[in-house]
Amino acid sequence: MSDSEAIRTRQDGSYTLANYLAGQWRPGTGAGTALRNPVNGEAVAWANADGLDLRAALDFSRKIGGPALRRLTFAERAALLDRIADTLAAKRPDFEQIAIVNSGNTKLDAAIDIDGAIGTLKFFARSGAKLGNSRYLREGPPVRLARDENFQALHIGVPLSGVAIHINAFNFPAWNLWEKAAVSLLAGVPVLAKPATATAWLSVAMVDAVIAAGILPEGALSIVAGRPKDLLDHLGFEDVIVFTGSTATAQSIREHPRVLSQAVRLNIEADSLNSCILGPEAAPGSPTFDFCVGEVVREMTVKAGQKCTAIRRVFVPQQHADAAAEAIASKLAQVVVGDPNLAEVKMGPVVSKAQQSAVEDGMAQLQKETKPRYLPKDFRPAGADPAKGAFVPPTLLQATDPVNAVSPHEVEVFGPVATLLPYASPEQAIAMAKRGGGSLVASIFSEDPGFLSNTALALSSTHGRVLAVDPAIGKSHTGHGIVMPMCTHGGPGRAGSGEELGGLRGLRFYHQRTAIQGSRATLEMAAKDGADFPSPA
Ligand code: NAP
Repeated sequence: MSDSEAIRTRQDGSYTLANYLAGQWRPGTGAGTALRNPVNGEAVAWANADGLDLRAALDFSRKIGGPALRRLTFAERAALLDRIADTLAAKRPDFEQIAIVNSGNTKLDAAIDIDGAIGTLKFFARSGAKLGNSRYLREGPPVRLARDENFQALHIGVPLSGVAIHINAFNFPAWNLWEKAAVSLLAGVPVLAKPATATAWLSVAMVDAVIAAGILPEGALSIVAGRPKDLLDHLGFEDVIVFTGSTATAQSIREHPRVLSQAVRLNIEADSLNSCILGPEAAPGSPTFDFCVGEVVREMTVKAGQKCTAIRRVFVPQQHADAAAEAIASKLAQVVVGDPNLAEVKMGPVVSKAQQSAVEDGMAQLQKETKPRYLPKDFRPAGADPAKGAFVPPTLLQATDPVNAVSPHEVEVFGPVATLLPYASPEQAIAMAKRGGGSLVASIFSEDPGFLSNTALALSSTHGRVLAVDPAIGKSHTGHGIVMPMCTHGGPGRAGSGEELGGLRGLRFYHQRTAIQGSRATLEMAAKDGADFPSPA
């Protein structure tokens, strides 16, 4: 990898990451935080966000970046997203290498993150182009307000004039960065991205490529690698925070004095105890049973289970619990865990030693109410030293008293761990699924359209997304854990009560909706240059 102002080689071969603020790459002061290779614990890069003038950087984005973006039409902003996607695609091999070295990704894991980012940018480039030459949104038609028909109201949405602070989680340094930035930039709102420190290298490398390509107006995109102490202290009411991460951090952001005093608009994507339900009729050996088993194994092992959408709870009919446990266990036994550089390895480590400890602590809590159904003894990762690497074997547990168990519905183990919960009736399965306290996604596997649609509707009030799989789409659906840009991503309650993406619906968050009241002549003038909203993706 070649040196740049953003990423400089150090004497020991690791890299120093800089921060891009107010139109310049700026190194932090102080020693910085090491980003490590989770296979062997070696420091691969250093992030440092100390000593940065964030007040000035935010002002620069508000005064220079925002107006420059908003001078462009939706179609012109969409064209920028297209160019960003092409620029990233051209450097994909570099990004894949970083994902392997810093996140312990397999090539498949890296593809989900990197290609997911590029695909999402391309999607918003296409759908944003359909909004044409407008710069704001119009929610028509006008409504009559009084006896005088000439006095009416029109709702419009204008882009916010602040900065979008995007605070991202460690598990998707590429996708999380661009799925948020795509919508924000399309809306005309500049971005200050704050990736999770542990995996910030990939985010910085991607921003470096985009800045070097000169695609965006100055001030439209900034990034801090590392955790600045005062990030939230300079925010105003026109800024927004779009957060992805744990419930505990989300809580501290919601309670931040500046966020409270300025009523800063917040979108929170937090943790989630997602589930899948195998239909009561799905006997072992049926296609539905096999599709469900395959999906559970995929969700447990892709990205070593470090997906906010991963299946944590598996509800199966009581009479098929043993068969389901055995089928899942036999597939898990074939998953080679180890150094993702080895061709035979299908699952890498979790992101860090700290994450490994968090997974082990969570498992210890689950084990008080479960028995192991797949927990390999004498686990040794292929091609790696377990003492240095952050490896966790895939583990399937089964609740000993499913109806009364508490921890499977409350403890998010962010790793390759799932709990089987046998159910006695569909009503019981639905009631248990809802005990997640608000989740991102549930999937249902059944041949019975009535069961699928009734269960999907019953789960909807507590879930942001429901995937209903019958055999007709068993092989063609996009997956339980994959977030598609045309569908809303988010969930109520514990999952944060946020909403991202959802096609052009995602623009709503970055616009102020205003009711303009006036005569028909005034409203016709005001409506003339707006794009219809909501508009099809
Ligand atoms: P985390 O520890 O909560 O950190 C998330 C982000 O918040 C990081 O960028 C972190 O920075 C930053 N942060 C922490 N404290 C902060 C503070 N006081 N002020 C400002 N920023 C702060 O979460 P994580 O460990 O990265 O991610 C795992 C969690 O994210 C899991 O619970 C998972 O379910 C959830 N997640 C949810 C979604 C979703 O879409 N719902 C997606 C992915 C992950 P540092 O890294 O510098 O500490």
